[in-house]
Amino acid sequence: MRDGCFLYVSDRGLARWILTRRGYVAITFGHVIVFAIEPTPLLWRHELVHVEQYERYGLAFLPLYLLLYARHGYSAHPFEREAVIRSRLET
Ligand SMILES: [Zn+2]
Repeated sequence: MRDGCFLYVSDRGLARWILTRRGYVAITFGHVIVFAIEPTPLLWRHELVHVEQYERYGLAFLPLYLLLYARHGYSAHPFEREAVIRSRLET
C-alpha cells in the first residue's frame, strides 16, 4: 500500500510482458497500480494523477481513455498530458 493505492511491482510474468511489450512501465486500474519496474517518484506521481482521473470519471474512465487514445495517440492524449504536467509540477 502506498498513498491509498495498491502498488504491485511485477518483474516477471504476464503483466510485465504486456506492459513492456507495448513500451509502458505502468498501468493503473482504479486504485491498483502495476509497475514493470520499481517506480521512481516521478513515475509514481504520474500514476497517481491517473488514479485521480479514475476517481473523477469512474467507470467512464476506461472507455473515455480508449476513445481519446484512438483520437490523439499517447503523447497528445489529454489524460497523459495532464499526468505528465502535474507529475512534474508536484515535486
Ligand atoms: Zn500515463
